[in-house]
Amino acid sequence: RRAEYAAIRDLPGRTLDGADVSIMVNAGLAEDANLIEATGADGIGLFRTEFQFLVSASLPGRDRQQKLYARVLEAAGDKPVTFRTVDIGGDKALPYMRDKADEAENPAMGWRALRLSLDRTTLMKAQTRALLEASAGRPLRIMFPMVSEPWEYEDARRLVEEQVAWAEASKRPLPCRIEFGAMLEVPALAEMLDVLLPRLDFLSIGTNDLTQFLFAADRADPRLAERYDWLSPAILRFIRRVVRAASAANVPVRVCGEMGGRPLEAMALVGIGVQGLSITPAAVGPVKAMVRSLNHAAISARMDHLLDHPPRDMRKTLSDWAKRNA
Ligand code: PEP
Ligand code: MG
Repeated sequence: RRAEYAAIRDLPGRTLDGADVSIMVNAGLAEDANLIEATGADGIGLFRTEFQFLVSASLPGRDRQQKLYARVLEAAGDKPVTFRTVDIGGDKALPYMRDKADEAENPAMGWRALRLSLDRTTLMKAQTRALLEASAGRPLRIMFPMVSEPWEYEDARRLVEEQVAWAEASKRPLPCRIEFGAMLEVPALAEMLDVLLPRLDFLSIGTNDLTQFLFAADRADPRLAERYDWLSPAILRFIRRVVRAASAANVPVRVCGEMGGRPLEAMALVGIGVQGLSITPAAVGPVKAMVRSLNHAAISARMDHLLDHPPRDMRKTLSDWAKRNA
């Protein structure tokens, strides 16, 4: 199989009937800068900026942040990198931060990610300046985690735009363009897409958190790990609804959770119209091989039928279908 993956390394993630699926990697550390080179991925679809904060003994200042981002962008060359603003708090609490959130009873639904960033704007301003300077002269793609209501996205975006105005006024270097995105991982946001989508350049579905919130099942509890399946009709219908709304609004939509890194799940996601996956690096070969073996029209028709008439065991049904058709 290794040889098979190596052989398709430089080929596109394209189905037999010509539908393109971009295959990117999730990253977060300086060592990850070479991941695109190593895997042949189309870019970094999710750069988890909080990793630098988590591995540091003290709060990384703007300079250290900027160095990291610049290094990652440099290694990415012409390929896109999507930076996610910090998702700290909850289970990713920082020992050196006062008013840390780890004492909460339900940290995953607690004061984390954008919620914390909007309350601690000094942190977010420093990160924004680091991102703007690191992206000097090239496009900056920035997205916000755990957006739960459209106004949170608006506030975060305004904060970035204020830093752009400041950088302009102080003659600092700036990106040539900025693309703004939101992560959809809190189910409530799906009800507000008509309000949110016109304001977005892209949407990224975070299936790790989304599925834990949809099923009310802690993603970190091993006793629940096998209980609900990513291929459950509820999850797939939910994602299909979001993808349809985004496509109708011409907003590119991607899945950046672990789900997309499993070939059968990737097949189902492509079948419900997902145009891009950002996955764990080791999954690039297997997922690309799956995408390249698919007929997009056939899997789309199959998924539509199966989601309208859900079988009891979706995984087995899809796995049987894949054996015959992929
Ligand atoms: C997700 O929730 O699916 C996601 C990609 O973000 P994280 O795993 O960092 O919470
Ligand atoms: Mg998440």
